[in-house]
Amino acid sequence: MAKPWYPIYFAGEHTATFSSGMESVLESAERVVAEVVAKST
Ligand SMILES: Cc1cc2nc3c(=O)[nH]c(=O)nc-3n(C[C@H](O)[C@H](O)[C@H](O)COP(=O)(O)OP(=O)(O)OC[C@H]3O[C@@H](n4cnc5c(N)ncnc54)[C@H](O)[C@@H]3O)c2cc1C
Repeated sequence: MAKPWYPIYFAGEHTATFSSGMESVLESAERVVAEVVAKST
């Protein structure tokens, strides 16, 4: 579910692996930012 699909990246509680609640939202946001940066460099 967390895997990007073409230009679409998925973040949110349902995509986090280590945490829950708001912590999971931040965890997934950090992952997506890293994925976008990696793709654009
Ligand atoms: C009652 C309650 C209390 C909580 N208290 C805490 C707490 O004290 N501390 C804590 O850390 N966590 C708490 N949580 C958990 C926290 O709210 C969630 O972990 C967090 O909101 C998840 O964020 P998210 O962005 O992944 O999903 P969401 O916040 O659920 O955001 C998903 C968004 O997508 C929208 N959406 C859904 N389907 C579609 C669609 N088809 N098209 C367009 N938009 C769509 C929804 O309307 C929603 O706005 C609580 C949760 C609940 C229910």
